[in-house]
Amino acid sequence: MTDAPTSIVPLERVAELWFEDGTLVIVAQQTAFKVHRSILAARSSVFRDMLAMPQNADFVENLDGCPMVVLSDAPRDLICFLRAIFDSSYFMPSPHMADLSEALSILRLSHKYAVDYLFRRALTHLDGGLYFRSFHDFHERPHGFGSIRLIDGSDEEWNANINSPLPFVLMLQAAVEVDAPWLQPVAVYWACSVPLNSLMSLPIENTSRDTLQQLVQWRTALMHARAKFLAKFAEFGVKAWCSESPSGCLQARLAYVTRAMMRHKGGDDASILEPIDTEGLGFCTSCAEQADNVGKIHAIDSWAQLPRLLGLPTWLQLGEQRKAVLAL
Ligand SMILES: [Zn+2]
Repeated sequence: MTDAPTSIVPLERVAELWFEDGTLVIVAQQTAFKVHRSILAARSSVFRDMLAMPQNADFVENLDGCPMVVLSDAPRDLICFLRAIFDSSYFMPSPHMADLSEALSILRLSHKYAVDYLFRRALTHLDGGLYFRSFHDFHERPHGFGSIRLIDGSDEEWNANINSPLPFVLMLQAAVEVDAPWLQPVAVYWACSVPLNSLMSLPIENTSRDTLQQLVQWRTALMHARAKFLAKFAEFGVKAWCSESPSGCLQARLAYVTRAMMRHKGGDDASILEPIDTEGLGFCTSCAEQADNVGKIHAIDSWAQLPRLLGLPTWLQLGEQRKAVLAL
């Protein structure tokens, strides 16, 4: 908006974060903010320490009568983070809704600058959609994604067959960055539930090569676990409990396996947490019941194994870490 007196390239002031009586100018790339240093220092121990040292190299010059600090963060992240600090009606705690991109910006910077209450608030938003105490809670989860809008500004529900896995990949990368491993199993599971070509078409600027490689490996592991179960399910004898037609019910089992294998165009299926839906397969009552049980037991077992499959500690250990970080 206005040329900074000491800069050659014009700086763009963020109107809602440019307080005339501010006492500190923050610049990130070409974006400038004028805020109150005392408030920032009170909320963030990192800013407090940084601002307590006027000789600090980060203070390059004065701007608009205030000391100026240049930060390397993305302007978009800083806008969300500073708004969350200076506007108490913005980024309210769950169950108030928040856009995923806002929550991730605030999560990353509140972690980096040690603003504990905001960090916990952002984590709690993600927690509602990514952490479940049991398979039962995961399976019975309500529609939507807790207090997070996965597609910014839209309440549309995410669908593995249509939507990009990007939201889950971004959440996974953020969970690794801020050391919140209890959010990782479900983030990985959803990111891997898409067809392989969707995973391979993730935008390169958002997904590190390492993350993508790791996701493909995890997806292969989930797929193998699923294929093993499907093979066992197809071979499992039906005669012992079938009340009508063993050959008809055997056919129903194979129909289920075929349906699972054809979920994606690529002909694979990584949905280890999906119980068996016997609707429309033509099972007799007792075989349908049996298939339900087998599927449920397998899904519960897969849930228990999921963290180990991804190289993480057990759910119990993850739960303990979560409790400590969220101060529950
Ligand atoms: Zn039967």
